[in-house]
Amino acid sequence: MGDINVYSGPMKCGKTEQILNEYKRQLIAGKNVKMFKPSIDTRAGRDVVVSRNGIDIPAIVINNMQDLENYDADVYCIDEFQFLNGDVKTIEKMADKGKKFFIAGLNLTAEKKPFGKMADLLCISDNVNMLTAICDNCKCENAVFTYYKGGKDTDIVIGDKEYLALCRNCYDLLYKKEIESAKK
Ligand SMILES: [Zn+2]
Repeated sequence: MGDINVYSGPMKCGKTEQILNEYKRQLIAGKNVKMFKPSIDTRAGRDVVVSRNGIDIPAIVINNMQDLENYDADVYCIDEFQFLNGDVKTIEKMADKGKKFFIAGLNLTAEKKPFGKMADLLCISDNVNMLTAICDNCKCENAVFTYYKGGKDTDIVIGDKEYLALCRNCYDLLYKKEIESAKK
């Protein structure tokens, strides 16, 4: 049976590691597994998905969810789903036909807005795993937001040096501070 499994949360919550782990498990199970990523993600080389602990796996670069239909596999792993265009109906249709999905993506932009098609994806998923990161400010274990240090009103771009994973308290504190300093 097909199903859709999603790992989401802020930056640095380990969601890519989760799908890399599934990729390996499914390979061991003898499945035809393929890794995909959107063309906008240029953080690593264009054709690999690299986790923070340095494991890399070959990836097929796609622009649109529809492109998935051009590749035959039992199991589809997708990283950085928030940058992918298209309609999640494609994924639902493929799952109905028995395909398995393991997908990682940021749920929210740095302005706490639903990121790309992530909200649509979460609604049609069989399993949703919301992960937390260690807060870059207070070091608690409940960072659920991604914060852009530049305070610019934009979606999260490639590369993560400019971003912090923050808990609710710290996001609020930094956000207020940012508004205060903008007033001066
Ligand atoms: Zn914090």
